[in-house]
Formats: sequence, C-alpha cells, structure tokens
Amino acid sequence: MAVTQIANHEREYPSYADVVIVGSGPAGAAYARILSELRPEASVVLFEAGPTISDPPGAHVKNISDVQRRAAAQRKSEGPTPSLSSSSTDTMDGYAADEARLLRPGTFLLRNGWQQPGEDGLPAAAMSSNVGGMAAHWTGACPRPGASERIGFLGNLDELLSEGERLLSVTADALAEAPLADEVRRRLSDALDTQRASNRKVAPMPLAVRRTEEGTFIWSGSDVVFGETTRSNPNFALVDESLVTQILTDGGQVTGVKVRDLRAGTSHVVTARFVIVAADALRTPQLLFASAIRPSALGRYLNDQPQIVYAVQLRDVPAVPESSSVESAITAQSGVSWVPFTDEEPFHGQVMQLDASPVPIEGEHVPGSIVGLGWFCAKDIQPTDRVAFSDEDVDDYGMPAMRIHYSLTEKDKRNLQAARASIVAAGAALGEPLNEAPLTFPPGASLHYQGTVRMGERNDGTSVCDPTGRVWDVQGLYVAGNGVIPTATACNPTLTGVALAVAGARAVASLLVPATSTQSHP
Ligand SMILES: Cc1cc2nc3c(=O)[nH]c(=O)nc-3n(C[C@H](O)[C@H](O)[C@H](O)COP(=O)(O)OP(=O)(O)OC[C@H]3O[C@@H](n4cnc5c(N)ncnc54)[C@H](O)[C@@H]3O)c2cc1C
Repeated sequence: MAVTQIANHEREYPSYADVVIVGSGPAGAAYARILSELRPEASVVLFEAGPTISDPPGAHVKNISDVQRRAAAQRKSEGPTPSLSSSSTDTMDGYAADEARLLRPGTFLLRNGWQQPGEDGLPAAAMSSNVGGMAAHWTGACPRPGASERIGFLGNLDELLSEGERLLSVTADALAEAPLADEVRRRLSDALDTQRASNRKVAPMPLAVRRTEEGTFIWSGSDVVFGETTRSNPNFALVDESLVTQILTDGGQVTGVKVRDLRAGTSHVVTARFVIVAADALRTPQLLFASAIRPSALGRYLNDQPQIVYAVQLRDVPAVPESSSVESAITAQSGVSWVPFTDEEPFHGQVMQLDASPVPIEGEHVPGSIVGLGWFCAKDIQPTDRVAFSDEDVDDYGMPAMRIHYSLTEKDKRNLQAARASIVAAGAALGEPLNEAPLTFPPGASLHYQGTVRMGERNDGTSVCDPTGRVWDVQGLYVAGNGVIPTATACNPTLTGVALAVAGARAVASLLVPATSTQSHP
C-alpha cells in the first residue's frame, strides 16, 4: 500500500501488521524508511493522530507557496483548538517577542498543567498534530552534538548521525552563496573562536534543505525522510487522523495497539509483533502511561533548552541584490551560522537573517542585514523535572492529562547568565543591537523537549529503554524521538533523535524474521 491516507469510505483498519509505528514526525518516518529499505517484505502501518496537510504527506508547509493554503495547513496542525485563520504564517514572527507563553504557527500549547505552584513550569510547552509532526513547521537546523552532548556509550554515534543526515537530506552548503554569510561568520569567528577546538569553531549551520535549479529552497520534512523507498513500498501504509490510545501487551510481550479513528469515532484493535512509539517527548510517555507501562524513569529527566534571543543590525555591510528565493527562505542573504556547544561554554548558537522581522527598525536597512541570534543552553538535568500524568483527568484527545513539574536550578541560572554575556559579545562583533538587552524566552520555547523516555546502558531505574530504544522489560516495544536522548544537549536535537531511530529500526529489522507457523495472526 502506498503512503497515502486511506480515503474516507475505505477506512478499514488492518487487523495485523508486523510493525505498528505511532507518530509520523521524523523519528517515526525514519523507522518506516529503514524498515522499507531493510525489510520491504514486512507489513508496516503508521498511525498518525493529526491530518494530512501537505503533498507529499509530511512535506514542510514552507514549501507551500500560497499563503492562504500554508495558513490552512498550519491551522490543521494545531490540534483541537487551532489559532484564528488570520494569524501569521511566519515562524519568525514573535522571534523577539516578550510573551509569557510563546506560540509558533503550526503548534499548539499545552492547555493545562504546564506549571505547578512554586515551580518555573514549561509555559511554552507545545506540540503539533499533523502528518509530519513538528518537522512540517521546523527551521531545519541539524548540527551534530559535541563534547558532553554526545552519548558516550554509543560507539557508532557518528555513523548513526551520518545516516540521520542522509535521511533528512542535511547539507551545510545550501546557503553557501548567501551574500553576507561569510562576513557574518568572519565577525563571529574573530570574537568567539580563539579558545575553541578545530571542530567547535564557528561554521555554516548544517540544514535539512535543498536548493532547486531555479534557486528555491525545499525544506525537508518527514516526506524527505520517508523518501520514494517508503512511498512505493506496497507493504507500508500511513493512516492519518488515527489516535493510538493503548499499547496492548501480554506477559511482558507487545501484542498490538488499540487505535481510534478520529473521523468516525470508532475503535480498532491491530495486532502486531513490534510497536514503535514516536509520538514526541510529551505524548510518547503519555501513551505508555495510558497502557499501564510505567517504569520509574517514565516522564522524568524532562529537559528543554533555556533559550535567549537578540536581534542585531549588521554594521557596514554593502547593499546586495535581493535574493531570487526570498519568498521561500528565511536565510537567503546572510545564511545561517553555527556557534557550536563546548563544555566550557555549554550553549549552542545559531545566527540567521530575520526576514519579516517584527522588530521595529528605524530607517532604511540593507536587505538581509538584520540578524537574529538564538542561544540554547544545556539544562541541568534533574529526575524531578518531569511530565506526570493523571489517572482521572484527560486532555482534549481523551488521553491522561499532563502535569509538568519543572524548575531551573542555580546552575541553569549561571549558565543563562554566561549565555547572555556570550550573545552580547557576538552581537557587538556583528553590529548594533536592536534590543536593549537579550531576551530570555519562557521555558519550553525551544521546542526541544528531551529525556522523558531516555535510553540507558543498563536497566537501573534511571532510563526507560536500552540503546536501541527497546523499552526495558517489554518485548517488542520501542520508543523513538527526542525523548530518548539521555544527555543534556544544547544543539537542535532532531538529527540526534533521527540517528537514534535508525539504530532502533535496524534492531527491529534484524528481529523481523518471517513469522513461523506457530505465530499465527489474523
Ligand atoms: C517552529 C519550529 C522550529 C523548529 N526548529 C528546529 C530546528 O531548527 N532543528 C531541530 O532539530 N528541531 C527543530 N524543531 C523541533 C523539531 O521539529 C522536532 O524536534 C521534531 O519534529 C521531533 O520529531 P519527532 O518525530 O520526535 O516528533 P514530532 O515531529 O513532534 O511528531 C510526533 C507525531 O506524533 C503524533 N502523535 C502523538 N501522539 C499520538 C498518538 N497517541 N497516536 C498517533 N499519533 C500520535 C503527533 O500528532 C505528531 O505528528 C522545531 C520545531 C518547530 C515547531
């Protein structure tokens, strides 16, 4: 079956699949792709709670040139209570806004439970519900983790990251010709590189994007991760608007899932040998909790990257011709530059052009000369920072309601202070600041939630899954996405999440020997 939504009148759910994948973001899509490459004979069904919003399924909304259609796709991704259709479609809007609960187009905020008394909470905790997940709305920055961001017990991490780059179509060259990019990097390098190791110096940001011969940018979403290999696999099906409500187990062995057709309201049981939950770092533990799979680390070690932003007008830059690709890119003039994480300065920086800048700018300015600096800090990870779930209350989908427990430690506050000093130094090297001082976004604004189903080397109560993503003590159940990352990263995590999904998909492929006659299925 091709990767298309099952049409309304045909929504007959399969009764059996070798593998059920929950969630169609890049982590779920990576499983579908690797299994299609390694085990094309296996039946794989992917259930996605949200609707299909783009063509091919999972494509980035920025690739939709018509503004009205793009806005409609974003609103359809925003869960049960979407924003008004007149809301901005530009993910850069609000880049430097000082709001208590920051909301990006294509995402929706956690409505309740985002803060407990006396705690910082995650006021900007957000999700996307659509085919392609958040990666239909993302910025596509795909740096590799470095120093203590790396997962020490994974000997093949670099090879997995290379696979992740292949699946996401990552390149550092797509914006190489941006006229101001070299100058931005030269200034940043002069200010920041002196003490840095050669592989941690200022560099072009690796991005999940490709440039067509006509000069337009095509941003990678899950469609690119699926690729033609998955789309043409007759044994793969993607079923949208289908909420998996329970993972079924018997004696410590996965047996399938219960899934609700959100169009018809009907429930179906699909038996399966393997279930992969790639439902984001908040909803993956939610589904395990709803299924009475509750290891002690479930939902704990939750970490988001405290984020600081600053806007700067580049000084003394020559006027450059308008780029031919401005309407589809945020970065055509000054590129995207990367200030890598180091253990000494445990934050990660990205510097990019603010296209439709909401920052009031006095007077004329050279196109592309307004750049936004975003510094992400590594969180001081605590087991007490967690997403907990209610046995009584439910969310808008009828799933166990979330309760976020989250606080910044003294170490976090010191790191934020150091990051502020660093971003001011970078800003001064580039030009004239447009903000009086850098702005610290509300916790959750990074959209980089991690740790809630973290992997570990051994089953010692501090992790949920093994290094392949297999949930301890449950045969056939795997978790995937940023939630499995066990380290405190400051770099954008999707590349790492996809790389770890590759390891899991390979493990499942190696176990997917054909069913024996005793393993009968309907
Ligand atoms: C504006 C924006 C900019 C970003 N920029 C970057 C960036 O530059 N670099 C970077 O690395 N990251 C970035 N991110 C974050 C990035 O998009 C996520 O890290 C990535 O999409 C996570 O992939 P995932 O597959 O784990 O989860 P998601 O993409 O969130 O997908 C999870 C899917 O699971 C579905 N689901 C949940 N529960 C169920 C259920 N019970 N049944 C069925 N389906 C379910 C959801 O509907 C969703 O579609 C950005 C995000 C946004 C919104």
